[in-house]
Amino acid sequence: MLNSIPKISFVAPVYNEENNLEILYERIRNSAAVSRVDYEVIFVDDGSTDNSLNVMKRLCGADEKVLYISLSRNFGHQNAIFAGMTYAKGEAVVTMDADLQHPPSLIPQMVKLWRKGAEVVYTKKNESNLPPLKHFIVKASYRFISRISGLSLNFGQSDFRLIDKKVLKVILEMPEYHKFLRGQVSWIGFRQEALSYDVGKRHSGKPKYSYKTLYELAMNGIFSFGKYPLHLVMLFSLVVFAVSSLYMLFIFINRVLMLFNLWHFPAFPGWTALVMVVLFLGSIQLMTIGILGEYVGRIFDQTKKRPVFIVRETSNEK
Ligand code: UDP
Ligand code: MG
Repeated sequence: MLNSIPKISFVAPVYNEENNLEILYERIRNSAAVSRVDYEVIFVDDGSTDNSLNVMKRLCGADEKVLYISLSRNFGHQNAIFAGMTYAKGEAVVTMDADLQHPPSLIPQMVKLWRKGAEVVYTKKNESNLPPLKHFIVKASYRFISRISGLSLNFGQSDFRLIDKKVLKVILEMPEYHKFLRGQVSWIGFRQEALSYDVGKRHSGKPKYSYKTLYELAMNGIFSFGKYPLHLVMLFSLVVFAVSSLYMLFIFINRVLMLFNLWHFPAFPGWTALVMVVLFLGSIQLMTIGILGEYVGRIFDQTKKRPVFIVRETSNEK
C-alpha cells in the first residue's frame, strides 16, 4: 500500500550544469507540490569542472531534502544516474537530466500513472531537436538496436522515467558493468506505461553527448543484450560454406566430364574474381573477429568487477 503522502526521489546526473541546478530544483519542488508528494532531490556531480558542486552544496544547505553525491571523476551519464539511484530512499524514483530538457511539468502525470498502478513510467520524445545528421544516426541506431537486441526501444526513449522502488531494487541488483538503463528497464518487465513529451531546449550550457559517447552507448545496446551478432556471423558462414561446397562439387563434376570429353563448362578466367572473393571473405573474417572482440572485451570488463562509480564525497554518508 502506498502512503497517503509518498516520497519520490528525483535523481539528476550533473556534468557542468552550474546554471541549471537552481531552476531545476525549483521546478521539481513545484511539481512535487502539484503531485501532492514528498520529495528528495539527489544531484550526482559526475566530475564537473565548473561550479556545479558548490551550487549543489548551497541548495543542500538551504533544504535538507536536497542531497548531493560527488563522484571522483567523470563516469558518464548512465553510471551517474545509477549512482544516484543507489542513494534513493523514496517509494519511487524519477531520473531526469539536469538541463531541463526533461520537463518537470510531466512529473504530475507520471505520479498519477504510478498511483494507478504503473511500476515503470517511461517517456518518449515527440520530436527530436537534434541536428539532422545526429537525428538520422540516432534514429537508425534505435531501430538497429531494437532489431538486434530484441528489446522494444523506440526512437526518443530517454532516461526520463519513474520507477517504483521494487523495480529500483531489481535494477540495482543487475550486475552489468556496461549500463544501458533504457534497455535494462525495457527488459525487466513489470507494468510499464509510456508518456510523450516535447523535448525542451537545454536551459544553459552545452550538450555533453558526443558522437563517441553515443557510439559507446549504442554498442552497449547491441552487445550487452544478446548474441544476435554472433548468430548472424554463424548463419553467414553456413551460407558461404554451402555455396562454396556446391561450387566445388560443380568444378569436380565439370572436370570429370571434361576427362571423358562429355561436357566442358568454360571456367571464369582470372584473378579479378579471386581477389574479390579473398577481399570479401577477409573483411568478413576481420568483422567476425571484431564482433568476438566486443564480447570478449565486455567479459573482461565484467570479470574485473570494478565499481561503476566512485564517490568522493556526499551530503549523507551512507
Ligand atoms: N551527463 C553526465 N555525465 C556525462 C555526460 C552527461 O552526468 O558524462 C549529464 C548532463 O549533465 C545532463 C544529462 O547527463 O544532465 C544529459 O546530458 P546531455 O544534455 O549532454 O545529453 P543530451 O541531452 O544531449 O542527450
Ligand atoms: Mg540534454
